[in-house]
Amino acid sequence: NRPGAAFPFDNSYVGLPERFFAPQTPTPVTEPWLIKLNEPLAAELGLDVEALRRDGAAIFSGNLVPEGAEPLAMAYAGHQFGGFVPQLGDGRAILLGEVVDRSGKRFDIQLKGAGPTPFSRRGDGRAAIGPVLREYIISEAMFALGIPATRALAAVTTGEPVFREEVLPGAVFTRVAASHIRIGTFQYFAARGDTDGVRALADYVIDRHYPALREAENPYLALFSAISERQAALIARWLHVGFIHGVMNTDNMAVSGETIDFGPCAFMDAYNPATVFSSIDQHGRYAYANQPAIGQWNLARLGETLLPLIDAEPDGAVDKANVVIRAYGERFQAEWLAGMRGKIGLAGEENGDLELVQALLSLMHTQKADFTLTFRRLSDLAGDNEAEPAFAASFQEPEACRAWLTQWRERLSRDTQTAAERAGTMRSVNPAFIPRNHRVEQAIEAAVENGDFSLFEALLRVLSKPYEDQPDFAAYMEPPKPEERVLQTFCGT
Ligand code: AMP
Ligand code: MG
Ligand code: MG
Repeated sequence: NRPGAAFPFDNSYVGLPERFFAPQTPTPVTEPWLIKLNEPLAAELGLDVEALRRDGAAIFSGNLVPEGAEPLAMAYAGHQFGGFVPQLGDGRAILLGEVVDRSGKRFDIQLKGAGPTPFSRRGDGRAAIGPVLREYIISEAMFALGIPATRALAAVTTGEPVFREEVLPGAVFTRVAASHIRIGTFQYFAARGDTDGVRALADYVIDRHYPALREAENPYLALFSAISERQAALIARWLHVGFIHGVMNTDNMAVSGETIDFGPCAFMDAYNPATVFSSIDQHGRYAYANQPAIGQWNLARLGETLLPLIDAEPDGAVDKANVVIRAYGERFQAEWLAGMRGKIGLAGEENGDLELVQALLSLMHTQKADFTLTFRRLSDLAGDNEAEPAFAASFQEPEACRAWLTQWRERLSRDTQTAAERAGTMRSVNPAFIPRNHRVEQAIEAAVENGDFSLFEALLRVLSKPYEDQPDFAAYMEPPKPEERVLQTFCGT
């Protein structure tokens, strides 16, 4: 139980060629203080929880580099809002190393905000407390919702100020990810004409994330297809819960299929497909309903990097890649519709189901219905006709939903589930609790203004069981009052 001997590191990325990363130790801070340690996650990862309780402030601030860590900053490129930047890289994130959890899955342990790296460009390498708490809350909420996402292991304050539009308390976030390899990591090598680098990276990704593909006839085409499938499924899941990522740049899309980089992301309250929160997304490129198409655009950029590996003959490679890109569209649509069927309680499939779903969504849009509450109330209604007034109250004009309800009940009459079964399955896919923007902002404000983390803790607790009714926390289900509405979110990098 020596100080810093808390991680059974087993590092592999550091074994890739030198040009894949830059060795970089964290820069110490003056007064580290542990805000939060995710003890259940630490235990799952096989970490020494006792040691982390004792030394967590030092370790998660970067002041104490744990035994076995081989800290490095990863190289990557990326399309940011459509424009290509050949070199980005970890400008403020430092990979400590990897651990293999109890089930044999390998995870990265990464500090975000741990000081400058060779990729920092003009940045300070630091993070402010607000974005750290935001990423903690939202990534853990995504996990509890059952959506693939990076996890939060710890958050610390540094005791040092960071200078943004204002002076803010500095913080470091510790992230756990299946890996931090992005579409932009492939682009980094492709942009340099480094086909050997692309191949080494693709082989590494196959071994780490898609080992079954080693046996495929064309492993690199199969890899492209598998990444596309995971991305289609992931973005469908985002839409099912009203999640808006906010910065779907190719450097923020993980090839593992996990949601990564929770910058200005947010959940929608009232349903509107054009919703954008991010202050830097001025043209709505990453609006709620654009996300599936942007996913496809990003995958096309990945496909371009793989062309020389897919087929030595350029036209053949393009044809093969295009098949995958088209299949993404179909896969997304199938995943999305399957999930939407579940959300309205359909077990079977009929031709008119898509229209029934679309009719509800368009009603929700014109009637400014809260996305989350509408589906939760519909779940209640599926099990109990007395719940109709509560459902109808989601709409500006409650009467507006009656015709749709008639169609819905008529459709349900041809489905096999009992009302009780249906209500149960609907409640397991339609959350009661999401990290509503105003709640997240309130929690951050209390922490920044008063050093009060009680709202942060309360929010984490409620969001850990999003599909359960928690009557004591019913207020957390509510959309914001007009004066509480948050219209913009900031990267606050
Ligand atoms: P993000 O917007 O967080 O996805 O970051 C985009 C790029 O900017 C990445 O290369 C980051 O490492 C880099 N970056 C963001 N914030 C900072 C910062 N404060 N210091 C240095 N680099 C940063
Ligand atoms: Mg290097
Ligand atoms: Mg990023």
